[in-house]
Amino acid sequence: MDLRLRPKIAEAYKSMSQKARVLSEDWVSRNVYCPNCNCEQIERYDNNEPVADFICEECDEDYELKSAGRPAGTKIVDGEYKTMLRRLKSATNPNFFFLNYHYADLSILNFFVIPKHFFTHRIIEKRNPLAATARRADWVGCNILIKDIPHAGRIFYVRNGFVQKQREVIRTWKKTLFLRGEKSPEEKGWMLDVMKCIEKLDAKAFSIVDVYRFEGELARKHPANNHVKEKIRQQLQILRDREYLEFTRRGEYRLI
Ligand SMILES: [Zn+2]
Repeated sequence: MDLRLRPKIAEAYKSMSQKARVLSEDWVSRNVYCPNCNCEQIERYDNNEPVADFICEECDEDYELKSAGRPAGTKIVDGEYKTMLRRLKSATNPNFFFLNYHYADLSILNFFVIPKHFFTHRIIEKRNPLAATARRADWVGCNILIKDIPHAGRIFYVRNGFVQKQREVIRTWKKTLFLRGEKSPEEKGWMLDVMKCIEKLDAKAFSIVDVYRFEGELARKHPANNHVKEKIRQQLQILRDREYLEFTRRGEYRLI
């Protein structure tokens, strides 16, 4: 994997945002394999294609690319809010690539993919409307709240300038594909929330009592549910059935 952008190919472009766009797309075309089928056939869509920026010609997965000359931080600015909500409802949202390069020497610092099945309305934040004097007055954009996505949903190809193992990228991608089968947004929300709680324990092995400690937090996120402990137990069972974790003995779990 080449960890440099190629400034020469964007010389003809004047605007900085166009330059960044061209350089980032060029880098992805040259370096990124498809995390879903492991092939090298990720191709650019024609310009102005509203669906996404890239498609894998082998398995038809779509990818949208965002890039920035600074780290992602806790949120990434994305497009129009209502378009995003429509996509989430119809399940047509693409997977999401994020490229972060070093502004001074154009070297790649981070590159990760967020699989589309991690997108729920909860990680989409509505921004304030643009001012009435702006060219697109009243237009409302959105942010993607990176910090609220479980780690399993931020799969790094390059992390802090270091290339990650390809087989690890593919393995992490496969591990959560079961989320695509969950059609109910409420149920998927529960599953992601419990995954996030387990992550906060920061341990490979844990007990159900450890997860129960998040009862209050989960109750606040799901005010309509009065049986939070039962729900936690149910989600742990589903995660076991999906081979995300295993039971070691009664009430004890281990991440796979
Ligand atoms: Zn593919």
